[in-house]
Amino acid sequence: MNLHEYQGKEILNSFGVQIQRGYVAETPEQAVDAAKKLTEETGTGWHVIKAQVHAGGRGKGGGVKLAKNLDEVREISDQILGMQLITPQTSAEGKTVHQVLIAEDVYYPGDSEPKEYYMSVLLDRAAGKNMIMYSPQGGMDIEAVAEETPELIFTETVEPDTGLLPFQARRIAFNLGLSGKAFKEMTKFVFALYKAYENSDSSLFEINPVLKTSDDRVIAVDSKVTIDDNALFRHKDYAAMRDVREENPIEVEAKAVGLNYVDLDGNVGCMVNGAGLAMATMDLIKMAGGEPANFLDVGGTADAERVETAFKIILRDENVKAILVNIFGGIVRCDRVAQGIVDAYKNIGDIPVPIIVRLQGTNAELAKEIIDNSGLDVHSAVEFKEASDKVQAVLA
Ligand code: GDP
Ligand code: MN
Repeated sequence: MNLHEYQGKEILNSFGVQIQRGYVAETPEQAVDAAKKLTEETGTGWHVIKAQVHAGGRGKGGGVKLAKNLDEVREISDQILGMQLITPQTSAEGKTVHQVLIAEDVYYPGDSEPKEYYMSVLLDRAAGKNMIMYSPQGGMDIEAVAEETPELIFTETVEPDTGLLPFQARRIAFNLGLSGKAFKEMTKFVFALYKAYENSDSSLFEINPVLKTSDDRVIAVDSKVTIDDNALFRHKDYAAMRDVREENPIEVEAKAVGLNYVDLDGNVGCMVNGAGLAMATMDLIKMAGGEPANFLDVGGTADAERVETAFKIILRDENVKAILVNIFGGIVRCDRVAQGIVDAYKNIGDIPVPIIVRLQGTNAELAKEIIDNSGLDVHSAVEFKEASDKVQAVLA
């Protein structure tokens, strides 16, 4: 589950990470109140207005703007709230902004030497260990840094049995070119950041930029946080931070009915039982020259009701031009699945795309008969390849 910047900062703050402070607002009036409150607390009259959407590169898209007074806070908030923000990380339509973060301006006017660093904590899946990735070249596109100057990206692997060690935090501060007070502040920052990552059961904590001010404060200016869904049951407060407006509506609907569905860009809808078979099916569609429209694991109980729900979910995607059903009848008998497909088809009424069904396992022959005699735009296939070839044939 991904979080908004302001939510990630709340978590960081709760573990003692110094953050650029702010309040979230949904109207220009709330934004002005937030700015007043910040001025009382921090003394600064300048604020930065930041669009809250689940996408980076907001600065480039006009979603991060500086306000020098309350009139500008109101004006800019009014302009950003409700806008379709397009950034290098969104689709062409962009994302609707529902909230803005009103934050203190931490780049003091006249600060001659603010330094922006990049830092993230993430799971290195190949090593099976957590890793801190960092660079003295922060603020900008980290992918570009990795591409053009890979020597400016450093990593520190954390051994699970010892945890993050003091010498590692010192090495990070050293590689970032710090000394004196800033060096100490950075080691504290790294420890607090790592603790926040570990204790929140996250799989990513990315801070870009980490700012060092000219008076040697080290502050998280941005935050991108991904919390492991499988750990949310033990973090009820984080689970409540979910913003479904940021998620794919079809995926949200599928999740609500307990279907394991991931939306993709292609035009062949897939209904499969078992995650492994679902992945193999997607590979096969690709090998036959097609593009899967989704990943969908209907699970073990492919009964008529579930099949019907799955069809409806798949058909919500307007790009779907054909559906491939690939189900192995081990526990569930193929003839029952076939009857379920036919019943679901009739219940839904008008399914506008052809359906290719491959059923293997118990009573597969009987299942084929049911499909072949259905009189519907549903076609049987016996072999895996035959199924994907038939899909390509109906698309051609
Ligand atoms: P992103 O573009 O989505 O990654 O959003 P960020 O939160 O990283 O902000 C983008 C850029 O805005 C940062 O790299 C900073 O250069 C700038 N920025 C953020 N906060 C402030 C601030 O308080 N004052 C000033 N002057 N610039 C800021
Ligand atoms: Mn950023």
